[in-house]
Amino acid sequence: MELKLFMARILILIILGWILYQVIKRMATSADSKPNIKSEEKPEEKIVQCANCGCHVPESESIIKNNQIICNNPECLKK
Ligand SMILES: [Zn+2]
Repeated sequence: MELKLFMARILILIILGWILYQVIKRMATSADSKPNIKSEEKPEEKIVQCANCGCHVPESESIIKNNQIICNNPECLKK
């Protein structure tokens, strides 16, 4: 009985040691790999003025029509 208990304890220690080893290994590898630098910074978007209504809109939301900058407003697109 004594030996069985001793063996069980050894086994638990081995398992704990293995878990600890895995954790350390994971920490070491995660520290090694460079963290992903999230570049959420958007480049400054150019603001343009609508030739029709005169409102200022980002360039991506504007349309060039007849060499004039028009905003995406349906009212301006109609004309
Ligand atoms: Zn407009």
